[in-house]
Amino acid sequence: MSDNNISAERRRRVNRIKVYLVTIFLILVITPSVISVYALKRLDSLNSKVSELEEQLSQIELTYLLKEQADDSLEKMEMEKLKAEEERLAALAKEQAAKEEEDDNRKCVYLTFDDGPSANTMDILEVLDKYDVKATFFVTGYQAEKHPEWYKEIVNRGHTIGMHSYTHVYNSIYASEDDFIKDVESIYSYIEDTTGVKCKFYRFPGGSSNHVSKLSMHELCELIHSSGYEYFDWNVSSQDANTPSPDKSAIVSNVLAGVDKNQDEVIVLMHDAAEKNATVEALPEIIEGIQKRENTVILPITEDTKAIQHLDITLSGN
Ligand code: ZN
Repeated sequence: MSDNNISAERRRRVNRIKVYLVTIFLILVITPSVISVYALKRLDSLNSKVSELEEQLSQIELTYLLKEQADDSLEKMEMEKLKAEEERLAALAKEQAAKEEEDDNRKCVYLTFDDGPSANTMDILEVLDKYDVKATFFVTGYQAEKHPEWYKEIVNRGHTIGMHSYTHVYNSIYASEDDFIKDVESIYSYIEDTTGVKCKFYRFPGGSSNHVSKLSMHELCELIHSSGYEYFDWNVSSQDANTPSPDKSAIVSNVLAGVDKNQDEVIVLMHDAAEKNATVEALPEIIEGIQKRENTVILPITEDTKAIQHLDITLSGN
C-alpha cells in the first residue's frame, strides 16, 4: 500500500470519527433541548389547565356559598313566617277569650211574639229589619190557610219560628194528652211544610204555669222534652194581652223595667195580633231603649239559649 493510500484511509477514519463525534454531540445537545421544549410546552398547557380548574373550583365555591346563603335566608324567612303565624294565633285566642268573657257578662234580651202571624206581622218585621234585630215568633195556625206567606217571611228574614199550638183553643188543646200531641204535631207539620224549618221550640198556650189546663203540666213538659223540643216561658211580660189593653208607653215601660230588673237573660213576652197595634207602636222605643243599655244585646232564641221555664219539672204533681 502506498503512502497516499494510507493517508486517504486515515482521513476517512478521521472523518468517520468526526461524524460520530458530531452525531454524538448532536444527540447529546439537541435531544435534551427538544425534551425541554416539549416539557415546557406541556407544563404550560398543564398550568393553563390548572388555572381553568381553579376558576371552576372558585365558581363552585361561589355557587355553594350563594346556595348556603339562600338556604339561610329561606330558613330565616320560614322561621319569621312561623313566628308571625304563632303570634297571629295567640292574638286570635286572646281576642276570642276576651269576646267570650264579654259574652258571658252581657245581658241577652229575647223579644218573643206569640199568637201570630197576623195583620200586624209585616209591620213588626219592618221595625225589626229597620233596627237589624232578630226576634222569635211562636206561631199558631190561625193564618195557615189564608196567609202562608207571613210564616215564610218570618223565616226568610232570619227570625226564629217556634210553635205555639195550631188552634190556640185551650179547651181542646188541653182536653187530653192525645189532643195535645195532635195539636203539636199539626203546627209542627204546617211549619215544616210551609217554611222547611224543623221546629225545635215550643211555647205552651198560657205558658207552662197556666191554670187552664186540667192535664198535668209537668207531664206535658216531659212530653215536649221527650219529643225532642224545648219549651220557653218568659221572665218579662209587656202585658200587652191584659184587659184593658195598655197603651204604647205602658208597654215600653213594662218591657224596659223588666229588662233592668233581670240580670243575665231576659225573655220578653209580646203578642203579634191584629188588634194589638200598641205593641207595634211600642216596638221602636223598646228596641232603642234596650240598645242604649250597656253590654246588652237582642238575640233570637237558638238551641244555645237557656230556657226560662215557669214550672220546675223536677217537682212532681201539678
Ligand atoms: Zn198565646
